[in-house]
Amino acid sequence: MGLNDTPNAERIHIGIFGKRNAGKSSLVNAITGQKLAVVSDVPGTTTDPVSKAMELLPLGPVLLIDTPGYDDEGELGSLRVEAARKVLYKTDIALLVVDSSESVSAGDTDIIREFEKMNIPYIIVYSKSDKYDPKTDNKTISVSAHTGEGIHELKEKIGSLAKLIGRNDRRLVADFIKKGDTILLIIPIDESAPKGRLILPQQQAIRDILDADCIAVEVKEDRVKEAIAGMKVKPAIVITDSQAFGRVSKDVPEDILLTSFSILMARYKGFAEVALKGASAIDTLKEGDRVLISEGCTHHRQCNDIGTVKLPAMLKRHCGCDLSFEYSSGGGFPEDLSEYKLVIHCGGCMLSDREILRRINMIDMAGIPVTNYGMAIAHVNGILERSTKLLDNNI
Ligand code: SF4
Repeated sequence: MGLNDTPNAERIHIGIFGKRNAGKSSLVNAITGQKLAVVSDVPGTTTDPVSKAMELLPLGPVLLIDTPGYDDEGELGSLRVEAARKVLYKTDIALLVVDSSESVSAGDTDIIREFEKMNIPYIIVYSKSDKYDPKTDNKTISVSAHTGEGIHELKEKIGSLAKLIGRNDRRLVADFIKKGDTILLIIPIDESAPKGRLILPQQQAIRDILDADCIAVEVKEDRVKEAIAGMKVKPAIVITDSQAFGRVSKDVPEDILLTSFSILMARYKGFAEVALKGASAIDTLKEGDRVLISEGCTHHRQCNDIGTVKLPAMLKRHCGCDLSFEYSSGGGFPEDLSEYKLVIHCGGCMLSDREILRRINMIDMAGIPVTNYGMAIAHVNGILERSTKLLDNNI
């Protein structure tokens, strides 16, 4: 990711589905104006989903995800079908590509049913309109990747669906603060912090504070007392990395609002309420209970260290018994959750809203408490109420 790029999790995810050789990859190329996916006349060339981040006018930053055709046969085919299904989980807007010379197939009807079940707005795109008669009604559009016909209209149609999703007015911190406020950010820099840069929620918080015309002050966890003592006006909020909660909660006076990046991220992603409720289930854990710790990406050492080392140790100490921990990371997430007594998810900053909410809803529907790293750490440090106080009227 370049410095000026919008993180993928913040982009509107546009999933492109359809039978093999329906013209999906050519459509992606026509939308992006670039040669991206492998295009050939041999059915089923796209074996893995291929993503392309781009600015799609008038919409803004999007991630186009081309999927393998879902009507393949045999073992390879079913793997491809599974890959296409995973894309559904993170899709905000779906395009179903149908070859104009054919009608909507049984496979297409199945996928439309999935869109409707999952509440995903979709457009049926008839491809190859230069060769066959165009078909259009208000849910469909005819395009030709070859001549470019209909591509502009398609982009506009995607734009109007995106307005229905309404995700652009959420803020990480800005709606808690007012112009001129000072916000103190506590960012531990230890050996597990990425070299030479800040992680996404930290960058996002700083940008949000600057956008709100406020003052962002950053310190490591051993300079908190000093930083607060040096301020003429006390900070409106202190936001810490959750792993420093134990020390920071002692160093920040009680009358200053304290929270963590991960708690703010849970609210931003839309699951703070359920995570807050889930955190209290930590107190009900008994010897041998299975706890799933789930991370949204595979490459983040700092989160991994919290998830696999620090959090399990804190929970065992808090519960005074031995617990059985299992881990999932990246795109992998168990379908069967029935054996778990609690699920603790990371902040999910790299996951699309739809994917993190799918997971949280799935856990919640299975009747299993779910919380996140920040709230779990706050709970075992006895500061859950304090660290979520600012969410009281704004969850
Ligand atoms: S997705 Fe989760 S594990 Fe990855 S960086 Fe974000 S919070 Fe950490």
